[in-house]
Amino acid sequence: MAAHSAAISMSKIISPLWGGRFGTAAKVLGTTTVTSQRNRSILTGEHIPPPAKYGGRHTVTLIPGDGIGPELLSHVREVFRFSCIPVDFEVVNVNSALESDEDMDNAITAIRRNGVALKGNIETKHTLPPSVKSRNNVLRTSLDLYANVMHCQSLPGVQTRHKNIDIIIIRENTEGEYSNLEHESVSGVVESLKIITRNNSLRVAEYAFKLAREKGRRRVTAVHKANIMKLGDGLFLQCCKEVASGYPDLTFDSMIVDNTTMQLVSKPDQFDVMVMPNLYGNVVSNVCAGLVGGPGLVPGANYGRDYAVFETATRNTGKSIAGRNIANPTAMLLAGCMMLDHLKLNDYATLLRNAVLTTMNETRLHTPDIGGQGTTSDVVHSIMKNIQSKGQLTADL
Ligand code: ATP
Repeated sequence: MAAHSAAISMSKIISPLWGGRFGTAAKVLGTTTVTSQRNRSILTGEHIPPPAKYGGRHTVTLIPGDGIGPELLSHVREVFRFSCIPVDFEVVNVNSALESDEDMDNAITAIRRNGVALKGNIETKHTLPPSVKSRNNVLRTSLDLYANVMHCQSLPGVQTRHKNIDIIIIRENTEGEYSNLEHESVSGVVESLKIITRNNSLRVAEYAFKLAREKGRRRVTAVHKANIMKLGDGLFLQCCKEVASGYPDLTFDSMIVDNTTMQLVSKPDQFDVMVMPNLYGNVVSNVCAGLVGGPGLVPGANYGRDYAVFETATRNTGKSIAGRNIANPTAMLLAGCMMLDHLKLNDYATLLRNAVLTTMNETRLHTPDIGGQGTTSDVVHSIMKNIQSKGQLTADL
């Protein structure tokens, strides 16, 4: 592949979080049995992505989801095809209007087969009965994608109140308030269970500290509400402290979640790496995405021992802007870059990431969410032209 050396200067501005060898590597505490090559990779700390198939190509599950998901993912496919990226997509549709589990079962089976997925957000209809769980949540728990990772960084060309934001958020992704364990004990009294387990908290904390060290970060902040949830959040905090003791090179501190959100909107530059339970992660991720320009800009990843699923960090459906050619394609394209890094197709990831970031610099192409009048397809075409200009082998438009 040609011409990505020219793009290095841009990658210095925005350092790809997932460039290099990091992927699903995390120590699984309490696991003694090694059954597969991918499991082995975790225990040795070396990430081995799913092997490429025939002809050196990878197959990835693609779940279009709802709202703007289908159009954004069709642009990702268009850019991948144009750039001759050796990835084939196996499209699996999940219909959020159905109450049956069949669609989800098919999607999960496909991800188990391929190891990797790129997805849009699947709408969770509030009108369906409480027994119908969020399909996004079912997917994460079924595949044990315990760590959600988002890198919130100020982007070139995007005007925001705060500059130079560079925060990595690790969110516990399968427990907490998302346990789906709710019941109405007597009429008018609902119990909603928040689950925190020692094993899971330890592996999430381990993931955060390991990532912080690997990325040359200095500080890890655990976010909690242990003053109120003394047992649950107390356990999460205790696990973070225990893991921190194995990382004396990193400063560890903690902050209560309400203060955290206030500090984020007033002095975001004080944060480096943050680790937290599931629901706080949802809130903090959205605050951080807002700080750097909104939900259309930031990619996210869900990692487990065996599988990885990539999506936009704030997991919106964007229903109200669907089909209008105005959604910002940046977050989904950058999610595609994280996926390419995970597959060790790092050169392609760098090429695409730099083309996306170069296009961000062109204010006339900005979509309405970041104050412009550009369209989704204008942005995507500019990205493809940039890729072509770097001498990359390209397909017909
Ligand atoms: P819903 O009714 O399901 O909440 P929505 O479109 O009203 O759908 P969200 O999906 O929660 O809201 O998204 C929150 C906001 O972020 C909306 O205003 C949406 O338009 C905007 N948004 C989300 N993704 C993007 C994107 N890629 N580009 C531009 N705006 C986006």
